[in-house]
Amino acid sequence: MLKKTAINKISELAVQLMQKGTLIAPVQEAAGFNFREISDAKQVNLNFHNTILSPKAAFFPQMEDFVQYQTGQSIMEAVPVELNVKPTFLFGVRPCDVKSFEIMDIHFSGTGVVDPYWRARREATTIFGYAFDLDEPAQAEEFYQTLGIGAADPDGSDIFMIRKGETLLLKGITPKGEKLLTQLSRLADGSANEEEYFRNYISRGRDFKTRYTCVDDKNIAKKLEDIFDNGDFWMKVSDACLSCGVCTFVCPNCYCFDICDETLFGKGTRRRVWDACMFTDFTLEASGHNPRAQVFQRLRQKIKHKYSYHVRKYGVISCVGCGRCTRHCPVNIDIFSIVEEAMTV
Ligand code: SF4
Ligand code: SF4
Repeated sequence: MLKKTAINKISELAVQLMQKGTLIAPVQEAAGFNFREISDAKQVNLNFHNTILSPKAAFFPQMEDFVQYQTGQSIMEAVPVELNVKPTFLFGVRPCDVKSFEIMDIHFSGTGVVDPYWRARREATTIFGYAFDLDEPAQAEEFYQTLGIGAADPDGSDIFMIRKGETLLLKGITPKGEKLLTQLSRLADGSANEEEYFRNYISRGRDFKTRYTCVDDKNIAKKLEDIFDNGDFWMKVSDACLSCGVCTFVCPNCYCFDICDETLFGKGTRRRVWDACMFTDFTLEASGHNPRAQVFQRLRQKIKHKYSYHVRKYGVISCVGCGRCTRHCPVNIDIFSIVEEAMTV
């Protein structure tokens, strides 16, 4: 089923979605675009390339309270924070970011230990994927096609959207997406010509080039293992790194978190917050020993986790080539150039 709406009527579609649940969509902010919960339908803006932060926070918020308690009372008195998940519509997600959810599912629900917070939000959410504009070249930092992800791949979306001039075409990909489309009365039916345009666009997206042309994940994983002890290489590539953690916070596939307690005037909250392997104290032990005290050890860990350990353990690179880490690194460290250079050492 193909539906359509004029781009300048997106807010009408947004209103309908907000009547059904929570709408999370790209909005323009001072520094650029980000996914935000929409309170005013006019905020939804599809004139973006990609967001600064990935949409992972829709399932894995940067900060989340788990338990509240009174200090001095038994643990039995602690009160779990209710997980109040409503039907959610995650609107305008680029194909590489949609792919990242599948990789994150491995950690949050695919290894035998299910994270109920991630799972509940995933199940409550309908994903509206959104193809990149094939008439504009990919940005220099992006390499999703190198990792096998097309610029217009609908896989993983419930509804997939492409833009045709000033018209937005929407196609149901899963039964959930198909059903929702039938309920959105603001949408008109797409024509046979538009169906054909949609099909062609998706196949054109598979040939849309981002930088680099081929990756052999098993070779990369092995090579990174072989050069683990090559201190000269790792120190050279990490020389400028500030350990700021930006690359991990913007990444759709970084999932490290810390659990911490905050108490104030006898009231306590146990919460989960994002953490980052690039931070100086990430591996600091209670004894004072830090097995990754040096910057090069932390950058090596980040790269090896994504391109080596993850491939060995789960058979897939934990990176979707979105380019955010490079785009937002204050000192222009480029993860894939390091991987490329590692292959030549
Ligand atoms: S490592 Fe960089 S390019 Fe890969 S998914 Fe994370 S932010 Fe995107
Ligand atoms: S964003 Fe750049 S400087 Fe900051 S931790 Fe990552 S690689 Fe280092």
